[in-house]
Amino acid sequence: MKTEILGVSFDNVTVSEAVSAGFALSLSDGFHYVVTPNPELVNIARQNEDFRTALNEADLVLPDGIGVVYAAQLLGRPLKARCPGIDFASGLIGKLAETGGRLFLLGAKPGVAEQAAENLKNRFPGLVICGTHDGYFKEDAPVVEQIQAAQAHVVFVCLGAPKQEFWMRKNGPATGAHLMVGLGGSLDVFAGVTERAPEFWQKLGLEWLYRLKKEPSRIGRMAKLPLFLVSAAGQRLRGTH
Ligand code: UDP
Repeated sequence: MKTEILGVSFDNVTVSEAVSAGFALSLSDGFHYVVTPNPELVNIARQNEDFRTALNEADLVLPDGIGVVYAAQLLGRPLKARCPGIDFASGLIGKLAETGGRLFLLGAKPGVAEQAAENLKNRFPGLVICGTHDGYFKEDAPVVEQIQAAQAHVVFVCLGAPKQEFWMRKNGPATGAHLMVGLGGSLDVFAGVTERAPEFWQKLGLEWLYRLKKEPSRIGRMAKLPLFLVSAAGQRLRGTH
């Protein structure tokens, strides 16, 4: 069942339900993709119809960020849970490691995807990382060919939004991969380049505040978030959901 929040239709799933659904997609025929919008991405989607379509046509739309959960509550359509992209990714990696699924890591600065691959292989014995590529390339075709040659089943696409969502839609089918997941800065976290908030902050729903403390330059991006909740409240009052 989908829950619509300011124009984006989210899947109302727990992390483990999302992982099971994502894993099933990775085994099914054809090309599928997963998006993990946070309030910032919903805000972009409100202004950009192409991006909104790219989100809404994904096979799974996961609520990444406590702001989406709050907005759902304000709209009177509570979501079961927050589903951070990185938790979904970790769960999916666990399943791939158990079953021999082939994972390709695309994105971030040169060297980061390789470091993430090393760390993940240590954390998930048996995991097959069939290739990596940084996210600062000019031509799509050589990257598509590399993914195809690597016979990847799943690709984590970490190019930042909205670039990664457009990239998956445009190039995904030609790679032969069954599943792509847009995961923003997750490779930086897997590589240990940026640090995720400790569990204490995550449980309080304050991961965003921790990130702001570590990267104060994000204040401009985050300042728009209260507006997002006000818009959700406005949508409820107008009864337009
Ligand atoms: N990035 C990239 N290619 C680009 C622009 C960005 O690979 O052309 C990477 C960047 O290095 C970072 C990620 O995309 O690893 C975006 O991270 P950000 O923190 O903005 O994403 P968020 O987690 O907030 O969605």
